[in-house]
Amino acid sequence: MYDVVIIGSGPAGLSASIYAKRAGLNAVTLEKSPMSGGQVLNTYEVDNYPGLPGINGFDLGMKFREHADKLGCEFKEAAVVGVRELKKVGAGGRQTGEMQAASITTIKEAAEAENRGFAVITEQEEIETKTVIAAMGATHAKLNIPGEEAFSGKGVSYCATCDGAFFRGGVTAVIGGGDVAVEDAIFLARGCEKVYLIHRRDELRAAAILQKEMMALPNVEILWDTVAREIEGEEKVQGLVVENVKTGKKERLTVDGVFVAVGIIPSSDALQDVADCDEKGYLTAGEDCVTGTPGIFAAGDVRRKKLRQIITAAADGANAVTSVLEYLA
Ligand code: NAP
Repeated sequence: MYDVVIIGSGPAGLSASIYAKRAGLNAVTLEKSPMSGGQVLNTYEVDNYPGLPGINGFDLGMKFREHADKLGCEFKEAAVVGVRELKKVGAGGRQTGEMQAASITTIKEAAEAENRGFAVITEQEEIETKTVIAAMGATHAKLNIPGEEAFSGKGVSYCATCDGAFFRGGVTAVIGGGDVAVEDAIFLARGCEKVYLIHRRDELRAAAILQKEMMALPNVEILWDTVAREIEGEEKVQGLVVENVKTGKKERLTVDGVFVAVGIIPSSDALQDVADCDEKGYLTAGEDCVTGTPGIFAAGDVRRKKLRQIITAAADGANAVTSVLEYLA
């Protein structure tokens, strides 16, 4: 039985791997794909990670992984489909601290409560562990408008750094007003003739420094108070129908590519049966990464938190392992 199974190998998971190894824990990190790094791999430039100004996201992800490998951290390629409690405390499974305390009446029950663990269910096997650090990150949200699915991979993309090169010299539209949308617009403007940034409000959510950089670019046009209604084309994307939400005016933009950057959805599905999520699906845990389920910890973008950055994800990994150590002790 492992001391801890870390699910996910983005900045939170890799940081947890490093801290777990250094703490002498018997740990394994499960990764869905053979490439560690999570969302950071698709970031063209990271300019807010201390000590590494302007580093390429892919390189930073690789550095995290190399660090873990150098320490001898164990990794396994496995897609986690669920987590099951091996022993239950009292009558119910998941309980609040108060209920749990109330249900432990004998020394035996107390011992069982301390010793219970989890089976992490992957597509291939079940892995037994005393604790779980959930660091599965998040995936891209969709617009759910006509044409989005039909043209996915045929001009509709969720990753500018992955697919931007296909639109060199062309016209693209980025939808969204957060950090990712503005970063995407800046990145695409380097190779595209023109980039539209389409935002549903009259104010961007992205960091001021990114906004300033984008607004200085002559080939980026911002369409304020505008939403995308339909993506059109024949074999591939040829146009985007947008509507100004204040005037109700619709227009068709001629574009070769549409980049959707309207936020993220936490990848918390595998933990649904054993841990609590908020209304958006984020696992509920504080800065110490402790969830309401003893033995389950949440780190990185999958956790409900205020600031989602690479550095806060990496910090979560460290905090989660510290909480694991306290729990095991
Ligand atoms: P985000 O910050 O949640 O922004 C999503 C944007 O999409 C918002 O502007 C939102 O509009 C808009 N939007 C949401 N649903 C929409 C819809 N159906 N139609 C049109 N627009 C819609 O998400 P993100 O940019 O993907 O970033 C995710 C997290 O990673 C954030 O916490 C971000 O700070 C972080 N991040 C940080 C960095 C960095 O530090 N360099 C880089 C990348 C990401 P409203 O503004 O009106 O809500």
